[in-house]
Parts: sequence; structure tokens; C-alpha cells
Amino acid sequence: MRILPIQKNYCTNYTSQVNQKKKSQNAASNIINANFAAYPQKNISFGGLISPVELLVKKIPLDEKLASLLEIALPGDVVFSAKNLKAAQKALKESVDLFNNVLKRFFFIPDDNLDGAVAFVRGLNNDLEVVNLNNFEMQIVNGEKSLPLKPKDGTYIENGTVLSIKDTQIPIKYKSDANLSFQRCLFSSCYDMSDFVKQGIKNQNAKSIKALSKDIDKKGKQISFADIGGQDAVINNLKKGILYPVKYPEAFENTVVNHGFIMYGPPGTGKTLIAQALANETSAQFIKLNGLEMESKWVGESEANWRKLFHFAKEYQPSIIFIDEFDAVAKKRGGIDAFGDKVVNQLLTLMSDIEKDGDDVFVITATNKLNMLDDAITRSGRFGKHLEVKAPDNIDAVSSILNIHTRNKKVDPNLDVQKISQALLDKKATGADIAFVVNSANENAFERLGIYEKMENGTFGKADMDALMIVEDDFLKAIENFGSGNKGVQNRNPIGYTK
Ligand code: ADP
Repeated sequence: MRILPIQKNYCTNYTSQVNQKKKSQNAASNIINANFAAYPQKNISFGGLISPVELLVKKIPLDEKLASLLEIALPGDVVFSAKNLKAAQKALKESVDLFNNVLKRFFFIPDDNLDGAVAFVRGLNNDLEVVNLNNFEMQIVNGEKSLPLKPKDGTYIENGTVLSIKDTQIPIKYKSDANLSFQRCLFSSCYDMSDFVKQGIKNQNAKSIKALSKDIDKKGKQISFADIGGQDAVINNLKKGILYPVKYPEAFENTVVNHGFIMYGPPGTGKTLIAQALANETSAQFIKLNGLEMESKWVGESEANWRKLFHFAKEYQPSIIFIDEFDAVAKKRGGIDAFGDKVVNQLLTLMSDIEKDGDDVFVITATNKLNMLDDAITRSGRFGKHLEVKAPDNIDAVSSILNIHTRNKKVDPNLDVQKISQALLDKKATGADIAFVVNSANENAFERLGIYEKMENGTFGKADMDALMIVEDDFLKAIENFGSGNKGVQNRNPIGYTK
């Protein structure tokens, strides 16, 4: 009964005390690292003397104190005990890997007699886990049976079991025998991090939701190496340089892995396709950028944006950053453009960080003007692999691209593929040109069979599609038109060209 006035003074309501601490809480770098001292507790000793209340509270057995807190512990709450807070915090830090859930509130019970430290975590399903924070074994005694709990290990614990920590036996009770709700604030301290973790959870959830789109995107057309013709040498190089190190890291432990690649060659030869296929085959996050767009959009913020980009790529590794028209970002400046030089330096620094940290982040760049690139980029080991992506220069390469683009089309089975391929080779057609010719040939077949006409007068039907067949003549016409129009490689301006 003597305790009543003090209850009124110090802890009329435990929740209001917790709320008060919430207000005084400042942002801590992480929950367990948080400075517990920043959450002040009411001092119940008087003038250095141990108060009668304190003595009384000390007499409450640890198991009752524990039970009284386990009774109110919510998912994400931790109840922990040790001789003092400092020792307990150190032990928690060392065991941080054991906690799978976000920890929101910490209840600390100091106990002079406890030789070691122990924590109880309320899980999301309301289950209770005990964590051995010590460097020695504890015992969990259930009737006749005694099970060891290894140092820095955790397990679920049931009501009625007994925890044995050296000489201390703690019967575990989910509910205390006595009603200690008024005394809780006297024998324990609460550190409430709920507000602090809320923002962290929100950020993490946003990231997880964003990561979903990675899989959603993949449901679209999946480019694979089988969709690329005539570029086997480049593909093999990239397989050895990126695909295998990502898939079989153990084989590359003692190897310096190159993280930067420059693909060079005329437009429309499959550079983008190759990078995309590689990302798919590696199951990597694919980030596609265009040097020209970056130059105009990132004005004044290039360095910060590069850092953000790499940060993102690291977070979602394995990832492939593909930079098309790289020359717009990394062109020779000869020291006359200090800003441009800074961007190049920033890029090289980020690349060297990736290398140092052994991240699965690869940067594949593409340009049709290799000689325009800054020496700092081409000579540095950071972009050490230069791969030429040529327009197909032999009949096999052309016919393999032709096969890729006709495989889902209705083509005359007796088509002289060699003849068409030779005609395309003579025109120095690139992969993009071949794709264009196949589409034109398809249109020619539509014209020849009067399909557009039927569509116009409403008589088009399934039988027309069944009768559709692209024949040699359709191809030859398409090749002729392609050569005389401005789609031919000879007449085409490089990407980014302005008059
Ligand atoms: P680049 O990046 O070299 O300018 P792209 O990869 O963007 O060229 O190619 C454009 C299109 O041309 C591709 O989507 C594809 O349809 C076709 N293409 C280009 N090269 C090839 C190739 N080697 N094999 C198959 N298709 C190709």
C-alpha cells in the first residue's frame, strides 16, 4: 500500500510514459545502434540513497517481471534482460543477424543477479522467440527434457518451460501471477522506436513493390541470344565476361572481373539487342540509358545522377547498365570542358567502387564513334573490353538474321534463302535493315494478295490469312526499294546526327 503515492507520481499510466518517450525520441541511425540514453527514464532514487520503492521492486522475481512484460508485448517488441543496459545493448548488436523482423519497441529489465543476457522477441504471429545473447550455452528445460540453446541462437519458447542461464532458473510465463501493471515502469524501461521504423518500413516496402515490376516487365518479349544473328564472337565475349561470373561466382573468386565494356560499330547491328539479351540470360536488372538524352536532361546534376544511378544498380544487382550513344557522355574534351571531365571522372570513380566492392553491376556502352571517346575512358582499365559489333559481312551471318526475322512469318518453304541473303549482303544491310526488309516483304505480300483492299471493303477473312505467303518476288522488291530509298545503310546518317 505504501507504494501508492509513488505510483501516482511516476507511473499513473505506462502507456502515457511510453508516449512521452516517443516524443523525446530523436532519429537514431539504426534501432540497435540507437543511443538508448537518448530516451531518458524517470529516476526513482532519492539523493543517491536506494529508495524503499526500489528495494521493493528489486524483490519482485525476474520471472514475474518478465511475464508482466510478455503479457503486453506486441509483434515487433523485444523484452530483454541483463545486469545493465550497456552490456545488453552490446549483446544485442552482436546478435543482430538473428532478428528477422523489424524491432519496434524494446523493454529492458535490469537484473543484478543475472549472469549473462537474454532477449525475447514477439513475432508477427504472436509467437515468442528466445534469443541467447551470450557466448555460452543456455538450457531450455521442458519437464524431463533439457535442450541446449547455442550461443547467438534463437528458438521458439513455450509457456511453462524453464530457461536456465548459468545458475539462474527463469520459469517462462506468458502471463504474470500478480498484477504488476503499475510497477512495470519501476522495474523496466521502454524504448519505443515505432515512429522511427515506420519511415524505414515505408521505404523498404516501396522498394519491394518496385522490384515486382522487374518480374512484370519480364513477362513482355524476352530477348535471348537466339534472337541475335551473326554476332557470336561478341556474345561469347560477353558470356565469358558477365554471364559466367554472375552465374558461377565461385569460379571467379581469384580473378579480376572486368565491369565495363564498350561495344562499337554502325547503328542497327544489334548492340542494344545484345545487352538486353545478356540481361535476360543473367536475370539481371536492365537499365537502359541514352547518352544524348542524359546530356540534355541531366544538365547541372550529372554527377549526382550518376551516383544515384549506380546506387540503384547496386541495390538491384545483378544489374546491367546499358548506355547507348556513349560518345555523347564520354567524348574527348581535351581538358577544355571542365564539367565534362568531372562527369568522366565521376563515372570512373563509380566503376572503380564497383570493382573494389565486387558488385554484380556491369556497364555496357555502345557507340558508333569509338575514336571520339575520351582517352581517360578508353585507356582506363575500367572500360577495358572493346568489342566490335560489325554489320554482317558474310552470307551465313545475313541468313541467320534473315531466319530470325522470318521464323514467325508465313514464308514460301521453297524460298531461295541463299539468293535473298546474297542480295542483302550486296546492299551491306545491317540487322536493322534486314528486319525492315522482312516487314516490307510482308507488306508486299499483302498488296499482291489484295489483303489491304479486302480490309478496306470489309471482305477480309480468315481464309485470306491462311492463303498468305511471302514469296521471293516480295523479298526482291523490298530489297530494291530499301536500296533506293533512304533506309539503306549507305544513305543513313548516324544516330544523333543533325543537319
Ligand atoms: P544498335 O543498338 O546496334 O543500334 P539495335 O540492337 O537497336 O541496334 O537493333 C535494332 C533492331 O534491328 C533490333 O530490334 C532487331 O530487330 C534488328 N537487329 C539488329 N541487329 C540484329 C542482329 N544481329 N540479329 C537480329 N536482329 C537484329
